[in-house]
Amino acid sequence: MRDATRCVQAPAIDADGFASLTVPVQRASTITFPDAPSFARRHERGHDGYTYGLYGTPTTRALEAQIAMLEGAAGVALTPSGQAAVTTTMLALLKPGDHLLIPDSVYPPVRAFADGFLAALGVRTTYYDPLIGAGITAFIEAATRLVWVESPGSGTFEVQDVPAIVAAAHARGLLVACDNSWATPLLFRPLAAGADLSILAVTKYLSGHSDLLMGSIAAPDKALLHRVKDTTRILGLGVSPDDCSLALRGLQTLAVRLRHVGAAAIDLALWLERQRDVERVLHPALPGCPGHPVWERDFKGASGVFAVVLAPAVTPRLDAALGRLDIFRIGASWGGTHSLIAPMDVSGQRTVVPWTERGPLLRLSIGLEDPEDLKADLARFLAALTSD
Ligand SMILES: *Cc1c(COP(=O)(O)O)cnc(C)c1O
Repeated sequence: MRDATRCVQAPAIDADGFASLTVPVQRASTITFPDAPSFARRHERGHDGYTYGLYGTPTTRALEAQIAMLEGAAGVALTPSGQAAVTTTMLALLKPGDHLLIPDSVYPPVRAFADGFLAALGVRTTYYDPLIGAGITAFIEAATRLVWVESPGSGTFEVQDVPAIVAAAHARGLLVACDNSWATPLLFRPLAAGADLSILAVTKYLSGHSDLLMGSIAAPDKALLHRVKDTTRILGLGVSPDDCSLALRGLQTLAVRLRHVGAAAIDLALWLERQRDVERVLHPALPGCPGHPVWERDFKGASGVFAVVLAPAVTPRLDAALGRLDIFRIGASWGGTHSLIAPMDVSGQRTVVPWTERGPLLRLSIGLEDPEDLKADLARFLAALTSD
């Protein structure tokens, strides 16, 4: 063997005794086969086997299995973002002529996908009041195939009665998919509540460090999961084993992170409720949040994302006051170690229940900083809303 050939041969090494606690990062596009017949029969390896890097490596499988365990699912499909998890689920389950129900408080890019892309494919969408519960029955048509739920809602945190919606949908033979990114399966299990699919933006709490984008789709039914996996394959959607490795690392601290941010967020939310210029605090754990009794009944705890509505009079000073924050950073996404704040404009994204608040709406994601430092930062911000 000459040098050029040696350069591309991986030497055999002895891994005996290497009992590490970590999941190895296994990268691949090509998967090799021992002989031509097994290559020809590679499709017999099924959804969980290894045939091509796009369809997964052992690192991908480890993350799928860990999320499936937490969700109580038969399996999980991973996607390159949370948004891709939503759109892939919809593309897998809907065809021209079908009708879809989506809550008015849905993650805004989902509305854009339904109104633009799905409408062009001949899939119709009706938006419904997220607090409708069993009243969803009135919106079900002969062509309705899928009921989407997202609880609590994006930006405005309405908690949905998932068991009531599931009962009404299943009575008419419909599928229910739940975007559970806020709670994660540690605080609410959509599949245990009867949903057919549970969607997570792994980007948020599961990975937890603001350094990767990923989504997951979990289903208790293998046939349904395979429909979703076939769609990710046909669309060419894969995830990087390196990102899976980061997500697996993030997952290890999920329970402690959630416990910390949940408690800190409730503490800050209660404090904010008492501050001048704060008109409303929208956190599912607070009685003032729409759907709070459902949260109390169905959720095991709170996560760290919530919103505040400020007095309309402070609007002209808002941008300058946000500039006074030292610890909270301004930016999209949430669920990481750093606390974030983001002014939201939801009025254009509500077509069923008009958003009538006139004051600014701010979304806060509480991170792992000391809550007293966060309170002092918010106090500086609130003071700057009124002083010169
Ligand atoms: C952020 C988010 C998504 C999308 O996740 P990305 O990974 O950012 O695409 C989907 N649903 C909800 C509820 C989200 O908050």
